[in-house]
Amino acid sequence: MALDFGQTARQMMSAMGNLSTTARSRRQRFADTLDRALAITPDDAAQRTASAANRPFIAARTGPEGLLDTIPPSPAPPDWTAVSVDGSHIDVDRHLPLRCYLINLGGCAITYGANPDCQFFSEPTLATGDADLYLRPDDGSNAETPVSGALLGALRTVREVERMADAVEAAPPTMPVLALLDGTLAFWDIQRGNYPRYVVEILVNGRLRTALARLREASRSRRPVALAAYTSRPQTTEVAGAVRACLCVSNPVECTRRCSARRSDLAQCDSAAGFDDRELFDALLEPGHRSPLYQTGRRASHFALDLAVGAEWSRFYYVNGGTEVARVEVPDWVAEDPDLLALSHAMLAKQCELGLGYPVVISEAHEQAVVSGRDREEFRKLTLMLMEQNGLPTPESAKTFSKRLPWA
Ligand SMILES: [Zn+2]
Repeated sequence: MALDFGQTARQMMSAMGNLSTTARSRRQRFADTLDRALAITPDDAAQRTASAANRPFIAARTGPEGLLDTIPPSPAPPDWTAVSVDGSHIDVDRHLPLRCYLINLGGCAITYGANPDCQFFSEPTLATGDADLYLRPDDGSNAETPVSGALLGALRTVREVERMADAVEAAPPTMPVLALLDGTLAFWDIQRGNYPRYVVEILVNGRLRTALARLREASRSRRPVALAAYTSRPQTTEVAGAVRACLCVSNPVECTRRCSARRSDLAQCDSAAGFDDRELFDALLEPGHRSPLYQTGRRASHFALDLAVGAEWSRFYYVNGGTEVARVEVPDWVAEDPDLLALSHAMLAKQCELGLGYPVVISEAHEQAVVSGRDREEFRKLTLMLMEQNGLPTPESAKTFSKRLPWA
């Protein structure tokens, strides 16, 4: 018997009716939340979010710029340089007889103004030695952690920042530099991975902090360097959490006891729950405008890495690039210098305008860094061919492979 479309359609119509009622009430709840949040003064917001880390949901702390104010960009300077470095990698492949990984760093430096210039680079580095393939503590123990998966991703991020320091040091010394990293320095993957302490010591306290210090020094000794990490399509809820903390009528202890992580039986807290930051700023920010500066409210004890919550990398804002809202993390030396913060916003807004909604240098750096699916397959064939040519043992299939290669 054929499907009874009469019955199916009736059930479908009833489901649609429920969905549209839910959507309508959510829209209304969102509008009410925004209205109430916009009425909160910067002082009240700062006070209400000071204990944000003790709330049962993630909430940012607000500063002198307030909870949800919007800030227009100033014009970009006449002469300036935008630099970006991006990376991509080929992970360790356990089906290959050679243990190795490859990190490809790509980047771009564009100078605007009286002497325009544009430079690109693409630099693959193959790692085959034990010193690169494993992280080891320097305490003489025989502990080791293989560099692959999320840890390789974190190492790649560190290498991007190191390469960024090289690129900024090589940039024209007489004009401001916008130094844009793609993504976040919060290392979510590795924070969830429960790695031993020495991994954090080597990657973060050793290498990452050294590279960040070089960038800060480049800014202090020569000309302003506005360093930022840019996340397109963020899925964070920290500002929505700050709004909720401001609207919740309970103190943090009571809030933790009575309000659940997402929803609660307290009307004020409940009605402000369930939104994300992008939603808020889609509604609030005009193209080029940015949100106030926030400080992440995440608790240090939740994470294996200090950096994401340390004072030097805890500030962020949102910007409307023209076609979408992005999250921008900035280091302390940018956050605490109002002129440099304004300059960084001005250059970033201009980059987005030039890139029709997305920073030009990040797109170009990505083009230089990307390793395609075809590249990966060729990399595998090349490895097998070279092993065979050097008389190293390879799986039987490799021999057929190398005979077929046009350049073998
Ligand atoms: Zn609450």
